[in-house]
Amino acid sequence: MSDRDRLLDHASALLERAPDDGSSVVAMVLVELENLPTLDGVLGHAAVDALAGEALQRVTRAVGAAATCPIGRYQIACLLPGLSADAHARLAAHRILRALAPPYACDGRRVMVAARIGVATRTPDTRQASTAQMDELLRRASAALHEARNRFDPLAIDEEHRSDLLLAGVDLWAELDHAIEESEVHLAYQPQLCLRSGRIVSMEALLRWTHPRLGPIAPDRVIRLAEGTDLIFRLTRWVVHTALRECAEARSRGIEIGVSVNLSAYNLRDPDLAALFEQSLAIWGLPPGCVMAELTETAVMQGQAASLATLEALKEMGVRLSMDDFGTGYSSMARLRDLPLDELKVDMSFTRGISHASTHHRIVSSMIGLGHGMGLQVVAEGVEDAVTCDHLREMGCDLAQGYLIGHPVPMCEYPERLLTDRDLDQRPCQ
Ligand code: C2E
Ligand code: MG
Ligand code: MG
Repeated sequence: MSDRDRLLDHASALLERAPDDGSSVVAMVLVELENLPTLDGVLGHAAVDALAGEALQRVTRAVGAAATCPIGRYQIACLLPGLSADAHARLAAHRILRALAPPYACDGRRVMVAARIGVATRTPDTRQASTAQMDELLRRASAALHEARNRFDPLAIDEEHRSDLLLAGVDLWAELDHAIEESEVHLAYQPQLCLRSGRIVSMEALLRWTHPRLGPIAPDRVIRLAEGTDLIFRLTRWVVHTALRECAEARSRGIEIGVSVNLSAYNLRDPDLAALFEQSLAIWGLPPGCVMAELTETAVMQGQAASLATLEALKEMGVRLSMDDFGTGYSSMARLRDLPLDELKVDMSFTRGISHASTHHRIVSSMIGLGHGMGLQVVAEGVEDAVTCDHLREMGCDLAQGYLIGHPVPMCEYPERLLTDRDLDQRPCQ
C-alpha cells in the first residue's frame, strides 16, 4: 500500500467519526520539509530519515489525533476534520509551522528544518467521503503548496470558494473569445501624477472582467487562473493591443500620456512577447518610450535566462520596464543591479503607512533613495490621502498613483480635463 493510499484510507475513516453538525469544514494540510534534500547530502540519508521522523511526531502532536501520514521522504499530509471555519485551518497550519521551527538534535549537532505548507479546505456533502474527493483535496493542497513556493510564502490556502472560481475558470477559459467580443472584458486606467509638475503623465491599464453569471472577477484571480495555460498569452495579447490602441487614440486627441501594462511571470517565458510589443507599437504608431511593462518583484527575481532575454529584447525596442509591488517580494541587490529597469513602484502596503508610522516613512524614503541611486523613476502606489501625497513629494518621490489621484476607470469615462489641464496642482481627480 502506498503512502498516499494509506492516507486516503485513514482520511475516509476519520471523516466518518468527525462531528456531523452539517457545517464542519475538512482541511488537508500538506507540509513540505524543504531543506531535507540538501541535508541528505550533508548528514546522510539515515540522519535525515530520523529528522523526518521527529518532524512527523511534532506535526502529530501539534494537530492532535488527526490523520497524519508521511508522503514520500520529504512531505507530511494531515487531514483535519470537524473544523468550524476555514480560518481554523490557517490556525492549525501556523501551529504546525511553530512546532517544526525549534532546532532538531542530530548527532550532537543542532539542525534546522525549513517547512512550507499548502492547505486545501472543503465542506463535505456527505459523511462518506469518497477516495476521489480526498484525492481531489490532496491535489488542491499540492497546488497550494506550489503557490506558496512560487510566492516565497510559508503558507498558502486554497479555500473552497476559490476552487469554485477555479471550476468557473474552466468556463472562463472556454469563454474568453466570446467575453472579448461581447465586451465583458475591458481595461480600466488609473492615472499617475508627476509630483513635481502636478501633471498626469501616465496611466496604468488594469484588467476588468464582468462575467454574466459571476459578476466582476478581481483581475489577480483571473490572472491566477490563466497562468500556466495558454489563456495568459491570449489575455496578454488582448491587453497589450487594447492598452496601446487606447493610449494612441488619447494621444491623437492631443493628450500627451503614456501607458503601463502588467505582465505575469509566465509572460516573460513566452518567446513571442517581444514580437507582440513590436507589432502592437507598429500597428498603433506609438513611440515605445511611452509604454511601460510592469513586472512583480517575484517574477523578475526568478532569474531565468529566458526571462532576462525577454526583458532585454523589450528594453532594446525602447519599451520601459517597471518593478511592481516593490518591497513585497525578495530582491537580490545583485539581480536588481543587473536588470534593465526604468522604474520602481513602491507597494501600497508601505505607502499607506507613511503618515502615521515612522518606520514606514523611513522604509519608503530608503526605497526612493535606492531607486534614485540606481537612476530609476520611483512611483508610490496606493496614495489615498493628501497628507501622504505631501510626504511623498517632500521625500522626492517622482510619481503618485492611488485613489486620491483617481480610481481606475474605462478610457471613455476618463475626464478629458484631467489629461489636458496642465495646472492640476495635485488635486484629486474624483
Ligand atoms: P497592481 O498592478 O499592483 O495594481 C494596483 C492595484 O491596486 C489595482 O488593483 C488598483 O485598483 C489598486 N489600487 C490603486 N490605487 C489604490 C488605492 O489607493 N488604494 C487601494 N486599496 N487600492 C488601490 P486591481 O485592479 O484589483 O489589480 C490587482 C492586480 O491584478 C494588479 O496589481 C496586477 O498585479 C494584476 N493585474 C491587473 N490587470 C492585469 C493585467 O492586465 N495583466 C496582468 N498580468 N496582471 C494584471
Ligand atoms: Mg501594476
Ligand atoms: Mg502594484
